[in-house]
Amino acid sequence: MKEKALKFKDLLSQKKNIVITTHRGPDGDAMGSSLALYNLLTNFGHDVTVITPNDYASFLHWMPGNDNVIENDGNEVLATSITKKAELIIMLDFNSKNRLDSYSDTVFNLDTYKVLIDHHQDPDMEIADLIFSDPDSCSTAQLLFEVLESMGLKDNIDQDIAECLYTGIMTDTGSFKYSSTTSKTHNIIAQLINKGARSSMIHDLVYDNSSADRMKLLGYCINDKLLLYPENNSAIISLTNEELKKFNFKKGDTEGIINYALAIKDIIFAAFIVEREGVVKLSLRSKGDFKVNIIANKYFNGGGHTNAAGGISSTNVNETVKKVEEIINNYKEELNKKK
Ligand code: 5GP
Ligand code: MN
Repeated sequence: MKEKALKFKDLLSQKKNIVITTHRGPDGDAMGSSLALYNLLTNFGHDVTVITPNDYASFLHWMPGNDNVIENDGNEVLATSITKKAELIIMLDFNSKNRLDSYSDTVFNLDTYKVLIDHHQDPDMEIADLIFSDPDSCSTAQLLFEVLESMGLKDNIDQDIAECLYTGIMTDTGSFKYSSTTSKTHNIIAQLINKGARSSMIHDLVYDNSSADRMKLLGYCINDKLLLYPENNSAIISLTNEELKKFNFKKGDTEGIINYALAIKDIIFAAFIVEREGVVKLSLRSKGDFKVNIIANKYFNGGGHTNAAGGISSTNVNETVKKVEEIINNYKEELNKKK
């Protein structure tokens, strides 16, 4: 790490045009890491732009620097021209080119020097010139903190940066409860609080900021849409476009709903299937060592982590539910192992 950190520091020793980017459908870790680094590099006098492939949940819009983020979808000309001018591209929280979606060609057709900081398993080693990868890290934000520490830049973490990093770690650990949360995580969180991160304010802004429609959608999912397979310790929730419309769906409204399925006693595998803009997207979650990233990769052209993964289905919502039911049956034995 030290050698790479010094190389990264060297790359930043002169003021540069820098683009920071992250995966499609950016979550709290993606935006928290990107905006933390944006604020740090801006403080150093670099000319920095965060470009996301598309939009993201409004409960992340409070983060410092958010107003300057450019979404590639709908702003392709601007995003392309800024990316072409960049002397350095820093990529956060993804491990393969296709996670940039329609912005991917813009980035990867350029031979601009690229740095990747990421915590997903098996990163494509071809996608960047300098790679910081730690699949054991709970979040890219935690890994970024450690990279900054190795670069000797810990003292440059101010309140804004600390709050962005806090958000990344908090959201990717399910508020410090997933097994990826270690004493190191809590130690880093303590340091971020010492730097001014207002923890209860952040929890409130991210988690207690729902519209009434979103809470009603959650109620509908649990009351009417929860499919339980107690014999295989599994659950499925699915939503069609029409159902989303009924609840005035806004980006981010379905985030976290899957966790309620997993909150049921003995459920160790849950799938959330949602149709949006003609695409059927899956979120998979598990407890223990049932590896949902393998399922996501094998059946849904996706990936992720052992306990949280996602992918895309090529069939409609109902057929996707049937497919997941088949998968549950196929994995009967593993799903019935003692937790
Ligand atoms: P979510 O279910 O919250 O959308 O995603 C959970 C995790 O699964 C993400 O952090 C990411 O690692 C992974 N993931 C989600 N969707 C995809 C996808 O389409 N492709 C890949 N490779 N990973 C995904
Ligand atoms: Mn992440």
